[in-house]
Formats: sequence, C-alpha cells, structure tokens
Amino acid sequence: MPGAGGVVVGPIWRYAGGTGGGTAGSTAAGAHGARARAGTEGPDHAADPAAAIRAAADEAGSQLEALAARMRDLGRGDEAGIFDAQAMMATDPELLDAAVAGVQAGADPAASVTAAAAAAAATLAALPDELLAARAADVRDVGARIVRLMNGVAMDLPDAPAVAIADDLPPSVAAELPPGLLLGIALEGGSATAHAVILSRGLGIPAVVGATGLVAAAGGATTIAMDGETGELVLDPDPAETAEFAGRAAALAARRLAAASLRGRPGATADGARVVLLANIGGPDEAARAIDAGAEGVGLFRTEFLFMKRQSAPTEAEQVEPYRRVFEAFGPERQVVVRLADIGGDKGLPYLGLAPEANPFLGVRAIRLAAGSRELLATQLRAIWRAAGRAGVTPSVMAPMVTTLADAQLLLDLRDEARAAVAASGEPLPARMETGIMVEVPSAAIMAAELAGVVDFFSIGTNDLTQYTLAADRSNPALAYLQDALHPAVLRLVAAVVAGADGAGIPVAVCGELAGDPLGALVLMGLGVDELSADAGSLDGVRAAIASVTRAQLAELARRALAATDAAAVRLLARDLLARVGSGAAAGPRG
Ligand code: PEP
Ligand code: MG
Repeated sequence: MPGAGGVVVGPIWRYAGGTGGGTAGSTAAGAHGARARAGTEGPDHAADPAAAIRAAADEAGSQLEALAARMRDLGRGDEAGIFDAQAMMATDPELLDAAVAGVQAGADPAASVTAAAAAAAATLAALPDELLAARAADVRDVGARIVRLMNGVAMDLPDAPAVAIADDLPPSVAAELPPGLLLGIALEGGSATAHAVILSRGLGIPAVVGATGLVAAAGGATTIAMDGETGELVLDPDPAETAEFAGRAAALAARRLAAASLRGRPGATADGARVVLLANIGGPDEAARAIDAGAEGVGLFRTEFLFMKRQSAPTEAEQVEPYRRVFEAFGPERQVVVRLADIGGDKGLPYLGLAPEANPFLGVRAIRLAAGSRELLATQLRAIWRAAGRAGVTPSVMAPMVTTLADAQLLLDLRDEARAAVAASGEPLPARMETGIMVEVPSAAIMAAELAGVVDFFSIGTNDLTQYTLAADRSNPALAYLQDALHPAVLRLVAAVVAGADGAGIPVAVCGELAGDPLGALVLMGLGVDELSADAGSLDGVRAAIASVTRAQLAELARRALAATDAAAVRLLARDLLARVGSGAAAGPRG
C-alpha cells in the first residue's frame, strides 16, 4: 500500500530491531550491519544491575529529548511529540520498576528490560485505541534503546544509502539515520498513519506499507525498486524495470520542481477561479514550515497536543502562549482557524475520567464533552480570546463533531461566555471571533442549510465524514477499502454542504486528508468548495493540479463524480482529467 510519495531503486538494508544482542540487520550491496561500540567500556551490569538499568534509561531519555529538539528545530512538531512521549516512557517508574523486579527475580538485566517493555506494549496494544496501539511499538523501541545503551552498542545502521526493509521500523531509527542514508522504507506491517511513515513523509523519504510477506520474499534479494505513490515494490529488478523506475523518479523530481516553482502564488485555476490554500498544523512549531510552503493561512490548527501526555488538563495560562505564537506567525491578514480540542474517539484522556465506551467514535467526543466537562471547552475559548487580543488578530474557531443545531448553539454560548469572562478581567479583546463548525457527521451535512444560518463558516472533515457515512471505523485496517473520501456518497454530502452554505453566503473549507490529494482537491473545488486545508507538504501538488485545469473542466468533473457509483471511478475521472491537460501534478497516496 502507498505510504509516502517518491520513487527509488537502491540496495536493501534489513532492519531487524537490533539491540546489540545478536540480531544485527544484514545488508546487501556491500553494506553491513555496523555494530559500533558506543563507548570504550560498557556499563558494569554485574556490580549493580538495577543501577545499570536506571542509568541506561536516563541516558535513553536524554537521547530522545535531543531527538525531539532536533525535530522541533526542523519545524516537525508532530514528530517532536513522538520523541517527547518516548522520553517519558524511558523514565517511566512503572517500566523501570518492572525491569528491576525482573533482575531481582534472577533474570538477565537486558532480558528484564525487554520483557518489561514488551509487557507495557502488550497492555497498550490491547486497548481499542489507534493512538495508544501505535505507542506499543514506541515503548518496545524505547526498551531496545535502553538495552543497547546497557550493552554499550550503537544502533544498527546501514553503511551506504539503502532502502530499509522491516516488519516495522521504529520512528527513532528513521529519525536517527544520518540524512541521505535512508533512501526508502518498505514495511511488512505499518500503515499510512504509522509514526515512521508520517516521519518519512515529512523528511521526503518514500515509503510503502502493509507489504504482506515482504521480509520472507526479500530473502536473498540485494536490490529493491519502490514507488511510494502506487505502493509498488520490485525485488531485484531487471535492467528494464530499473530503467522504468529510474524514469519515474526523474519524472517525479521534475514534477515536484515545477510544482514548487508555483509556490507563493495563490491557489487558482488556469482561468483564474480562486481557491484558498491553507495549512493544517498541530502546534506553533509547524507555523514556519506552513508559511514556507506558501500556505495562505491555517485552516485547521489541531490543539489536542496541548491536552495529551499530561496528568491534568492544561490551564488557561498554559494555552494562551501557543495560540498567541500561531496568531502572531500568521498576522492579522491571514486567517488561523483554531479547532477546539477533539478529545474522545481515538484520543482518550485518562485525567477526564471518561467512562469506557464500546464504540468510542460514536461516543462522548469533542463538543459532546461539554455535557460533562464544560469547563474544558470554556477554558480553551477564554485562552483563545486572550491570545487573539494579545496578538491583535480576529481569531477563527471551530468545534469538531457538531451533530445538531443545539451543538452549534452551545458553541456560540460558550464563545460568548468566554468573551464576557475575559472582558471582565480587563484584557484587550478583538471585537469578534469567526465561529464555525466542522462538518464531519452526516447529520450536520444534511442540516447544512439550517446550520449555515447560525455559524460563520463550515470546514468539512472528510476523514470522519467518510468513516461515519460508510460506517467504517477509520482506525480499522481491515476496512481500509471503505475509507476513500472520494466515494460518491461522501461527495454528495459535500455538495449538500456547499448548497446549504451558499444559501446563507458562508464559505466552505475542507480540512480532511482529501484536500491534500491533488485528485481530491480537483473534485472538491469542482463541487464549489472555497478553501482547501492540508499538510504543508501537500500544498505544492494541490496548487499545481489546480493551476493546470479550468473552472469548466472542474465543473464537468464534479458533475460526473456525483453520478459515479464508487470511489475508484471518481479517482479515474480525476486522473483522466489531469492526463488530458498534460499536468505533471503528482497524484499522491489517497486521503
Ligand atoms: C477530519 O475528520 O477530516 C479531520 C480533519 O479531523 P481529524 O482527522 O482530526 O479527526
Ligand atoms: Mg475529524
């Protein structure tokens, strides 16, 4: 399956999750599993094994904090968060106590750490929660890092640029490989949302995931050709195949160069129909990357990062600073849409004490939290008012998971109460807050005309709108075949939302992954969407695709897409249009 776009042909490096204990990855084409001594002497486990475990864990924590800092410097806030979380895992008292208890019971220190990490991972993996399940791999990776440090060995690295083949690749390996050494990632497991894949996308490294049987099939192979956009893999390609992939790589590089040359231009078709191109960000550290990518503003500022990995909810004061930083980065002329915390569903918060739910995605999520945790949303709204006042901007705010008119009204009430509370404290305040809703529940799409009468804008969350329309849990890989947002059922709802919004004269944005897929962007624009918000890395491709077509072609594409009967047919229509106009715009992995 496609993971991250890009084409490469290169030698194979097998990553075997080495801990220095004898499972070094072997490589072909001259590369070998380098297993260097980290220091001149390894720590003396025998004298005080418990102290050796704790010392190695401390060192692992420091290394991971340094990795987080490096990611932050690169403007990769999401990835920094992965390593912050791993740093916390490394020094987690429960993990270390379990490892020390293993030693005291007579086990080998390294085996005790591995067992403690495996037990913690198993507990996480058993939770019905995509994010927590992904952390299972992270905690095993932390255990391996501690063991490596105890054994005084460095991480296995290829010694020449190579494509990594593995069951799964820990994000820290992808991040720690010196730039240029990792040409691509081909995983037997993983998914398009696995941490290593998110990271590789950010670093521009192609990835293919879910390649069942790959590790065994790669047996004695020395070279691999891969295309991260189509998900194709060829082991030991013959000269013709090598030439074909090399041709694709060259064409892609040329397309990317051409697309990047349009940066700085606003989103528009060849005949001047405008669409506003915005960025999705997950924190203030990502603002600079979005601006560099030519984002005209922020269409989705996900704020969950403030609420995760904590023992208690962030205070109002703690929230003001990150919001202010983002507002100031974009200034008063460019919109920044802050989304209220989308907690619940696959993002649980232990400190809220929410009851376990059989179907969390159909449960107490996002705006629905107001019933039992009203103060959580009220605090966030007060912090946004304050931050906007200090930055001198008019903020835009939206609530996720709005289902009914009562939800929208609740948002307006919370907004006004928050303003009154901040005004009473004498803070400078903007006159207004643009107040919108995410349309990601079918009921909201169906009631769009009525909702448009009470809010200032819509932002369609195609990720959730797809899962709720097709009744397919977005975190269930077995249902991936149902999760294409270009399904006509979803598109007909998008059309209904646009019609409802047009009646009241309010704008419609799309901030789900579909907006960052050039094919999806064309269809959405044809349906009348005014703004597209996507990861900064997707904006070049979307801008180029839109610039290559006319408004009449988009209208025709939308008309035919609405009449189609499945997502594959819609994809084909959009692909055909791009081929006809001779656009080089890359059609990336689907969203
Ligand atoms: C969506 O559902 O499309 C969306 C943008 O929100 P999230 O992916 O954060 O649920
Ligand atoms: Mg959503």
